[in-house]
Amino acid sequence: MTKVRTRFAPSPTGFAHIGNLRTALFAYLTAKHFGGDFILRLEDTDKNREVDGADEYILSAVKTLGFIYDEGPDIGGKFAPYRQSERLDHYKKWALVLVDKGRAFADPYTPEQIQKFRDEAAANKKAFRYRDFRPTNPPAWDGTMPLRFKSEPRDYAWRDEVMGDLSAGADAIDDFVLIKSDGFPTYNFAHIIDDLEMEITHIIRGQEFISSTPNYLNLYEALEIEHPIFATMPHILNETGNKKLGKRDGAKDAMEYLRDGILVEALDNFIASCGWNDGTEQEIFSMDELIEKFTLDRVGRSGARFDPNRLVWMNGQWIKRLSVGELFERTNCVSDANRSGLPTSCSVSEARQNGEEERSFWGENGANTTDNKKKQVLAVVQDRLKTLADLPALTEYFFARPEPNWAMVDDNKQLKKLTRGEQVELLCAAVEKLEHTEWDFDKLQMSLNELLEITESKPPILFGIIRFALTWAPFSPGLPETMVTLGKDETLARISTAVESAK
Ligand code: GLU
Repeated sequence: MTKVRTRFAPSPTGFAHIGNLRTALFAYLTAKHFGGDFILRLEDTDKNREVDGADEYILSAVKTLGFIYDEGPDIGGKFAPYRQSERLDHYKKWALVLVDKGRAFADPYTPEQIQKFRDEAAANKKAFRYRDFRPTNPPAWDGTMPLRFKSEPRDYAWRDEVMGDLSAGADAIDDFVLIKSDGFPTYNFAHIIDDLEMEITHIIRGQEFISSTPNYLNLYEALEIEHPIFATMPHILNETGNKKLGKRDGAKDAMEYLRDGILVEALDNFIASCGWNDGTEQEIFSMDELIEKFTLDRVGRSGARFDPNRLVWMNGQWIKRLSVGELFERTNCVSDANRSGLPTSCSVSEARQNGEEERSFWGENGANTTDNKKKQVLAVVQDRLKTLADLPALTEYFFARPEPNWAMVDDNKQLKKLTRGEQVELLCAAVEKLEHTEWDFDKLQMSLNELLEITESKPPILFGIIRFALTWAPFSPGLPETMVTLGKDETLARISTAVESAK
């Protein structure tokens, strides 16, 4: 059996959004599922659209997400170079093969002449097709004019691993440009040559290329080569599922999710789930499981809905799965000096070793605490943490005594049923009980339950008011663990401060 070889072929025209990276991930998974190779090729032949630094940025995004490529521009490989601008001689060689076969010709028209043809077609209410105006006696190609494909239109039917059986009429086929007048090939030509030379077995790409596929099929035929397997990814749709995900719906640079406190594992898991499932109810997949289970025939044909809440939910699941030590490492992210602020290493020890500047997810007070204290607090909040960016809100009160904020109590549905006097009474009873409690989790739990009986109160009320007195935060972990983490003196001091501040 031939070795499966897939490629991710980005154009360096901007950041890497979820859609691009899903194509990369599915290509990576397809290759690895079959023990094959995953190739990264930069398609940088459109100099007008190129964005400075985008090439390096995309490579680093792919690496950060763990899509390990076997061949690529920065690591080389059997079919190097992997940057199209460095392969111009390859395209020229194949262009001349087509010229020799009589299947390519120099385009002698100026842009103004072509515009006239377009206008003429429009005036006759016909779609413009270059081949209707094909020159009868084109000059020899000297490289200064565009080189066009001489198409032989016919109907096609083809198979797409995801979209199924597709077909198109001869009308879809035209004499497209192979090499532009600047000497660079078009995508339409270059990718076919590269896929051939690089022995690519599967073309996994976005939906926007389906309409051009008949042209490609015509070119494969002219070159007398077999085409790779096609697998077309459906669009990623916005949250409501009614149109393609755009910038306005939150289609942002995928690396931004990491900077916003999403774990790499969760982002990979989420990207994979955009349009794919394994046919069971399972939702959480590690990369190893994805490699084992991923197949193109389980990619859905219709668009996949982008649901940011699902990403946050998955992230919470992944945070729970980490050991406290691992979670601690992730809370200290290092940003390098590049324009994007992309983390280069996501571990505090690595960062310190490299002498890099630390960019952590901790709040101001948390950041100045010992590693041990941080880990202790992490163990307490881990279950409630949805993104690393929630750390300050969930932890700052452990490191510095918060200002009492009775408005929070007054806004609380349960607590506002009590007068301030009744609230203070509960806090005083708590101080009395806790002063005589041994400071460990079980004993505290027991004391708090006894306190419920003594005060004849209900858990949301009694525990609610103590919670506020200790944290003045909208969400906090369970009371016994919060108390253990704060320590006895601090716990009692905070409740007393609350009592004194009550008005
Ligand atoms: N350079 C093309 C793009 O970025 C790649 C399409 C393909 O995978 O063939 O859209």
